[in-house]
Amino acid sequence: MRLVPCPDCGPREPGEFVCLGDSGGHPVGEDGLAEALYGRANAKGPVEELWWHKFGCRRWLKLRRNSATNEFVP
Ligand SMILES: [Zn+2]
Repeated sequence: MRLVPCPDCGPREPGEFVCLGDSGGHPVGEDGLAEALYGRANAKGPVEELWWHKFGCRRWLKLRRNSATNEFVP
């Protein structure tokens, strides 16, 4: 499981976050997190997503993730 790089908290478990993927604009809750991380077959390469650190600093993060490798990229 990839850790989510929070600028306040450092690398944290994805389960602490709520991810809102921007492709299609459909909100993804905790239940859909695995699907958000692994299920997006339609976009290979960097995708921009909003992550809410619900169980941490409660900040919104705008992160870029390579959907082909699941690595977060600067
Ligand atoms: Zn945080």
